[in-house]
Order: sequence, then C-alpha cells, then structure tokens
Amino acid sequence: MAGPQSACARCPKVLGASCCEVKPHEQLATLTWADVERVEAETGQRAAQFSEWEWLDAEHARAWLDVHPAYAAYLGPAPRRLTLRVVDGACALLVRGEGCSLGEEARPTACRIYPFDVTEGLLQVERFGDVVEARRQVEQVAAHACLAVEEAVSFESLHRAFGTTAAKVGALVERLRAEIADHARRERGAKSRSR
Ligand code: SF4
Ligand code: SF4
Repeated sequence: MAGPQSACARCPKVLGASCCEVKPHEQLATLTWADVERVEAETGQRAAQFSEWEWLDAEHARAWLDVHPAYAAYLGPAPRRLTLRVVDGACALLVRGEGCSLGEEARPTACRIYPFDVTEGLLQVERFGDVVEARRQVEQVAAHACLAVEEAVSFESLHRAFGTTAAKVGALVERLRAEIADHARRERGAKSRSR
C-alpha cells in the first residue's frame, strides 16, 4: 500500500528492506487480471515485463491458501499465482530510493491494502514494538515487518499515517474480492487471455 513518505522512505534503511523487496525465496503481492490491465494502461508495458507466474504444487497451494484465505477462489484449473516480477531482489515497478513508479490508482489492489488485512482490524505483518527486533526478524526472514506499523500507536493513527480510513480500506477489500472473483472466472476460461 502507498505509505507515508516518511515511513516508506525510511523503511529500507531502518528495517533493511521495504515491502516492495524480497529475499531470494520470497514472492511479492498476488495480482489479478484487473491489476495487470491497470498497470499495462498506465505504463504501456506488456504484462510479462512486470509480472510473472508462480506455479504451485498441491502442498504449496494449500499452504498459500492457509495464509491467504481471501484467495480461496483465485486458483483455476492451472495452479498458478500471478505475481509481480522480481528484478534484482525488488518489484520490477519499484524505483529504488523513490518508491513505487505507479500512481496510486494504478497500483495493484493488494499493494494498496497493505499492511492492512482483508479482515478488518488485522494486519498482514506482526508488530514487534521495537524496530531493532523488527529488523532482526526481517533479516532472519522470520517475519514481515512494516516501519509504519512499528511507529503507529493505534489503528487510527496507522490509518492516518497512510492517509486513509477504515472505510477506505474496507472499500479496497471489497474491490479485491470482486477482482479475485473476476480473475477466477477468466482463469476457468470464460474470458481467458494469454500473455
Ligand atoms: S513495509 Fe510499511 S513502511 Fe515499509 S515501505 Fe511497506 S508500507 Fe511503507
Ligand atoms: S507495484 Fe508498487 S507498491 Fe506494489 S510491490 Fe511493486 S513497487 Fe511496491
């Protein structure tokens, strides 16, 4: 999710990595076809330039869905997850030192929701209450952390830090659910497209 310039700008230095960067075995946010079409329209890039498929065996698919139950309908007959392409350890759409190259409206919906969760009142990251410990956990790949979360004193202050509200996050969550359903329909072949 787009964050406050202060926390998101300081995050890579303070925590060692932002949410737009990954360790070798990690993956970035899950995309839907709606996300891909918005990014194509904004950047003029083809999908293959900024996205890639992760192929999931049955065990991996189960583990992924355990952590991301909102995506229960996402996987079609082909067990594949569309995600952002990683280039040199970061999202292909990240400009290091500046942040996401996309405008807010074109950003993948999952990125716009982060670090909030699809379940109201939950976050996609742990809160350690101590940035030193948060960095240690991130470096050990034991957890995901977010500097804005570490610095926030309440959910309300976290919303304010991202310039959003619970209602706006809720609207994005509803949009994500609709886009997942649409993605699933296309994956089942009703309106398939190739890339
Ligand atoms: S992890 Fe949090 S603070 Fe860091 S870049 Fe992402 S949203 Fe911003
Ligand atoms: S699309 Fe933008 S916000 Fe999402 S991971 Fe890539 S750089 Fe970060």
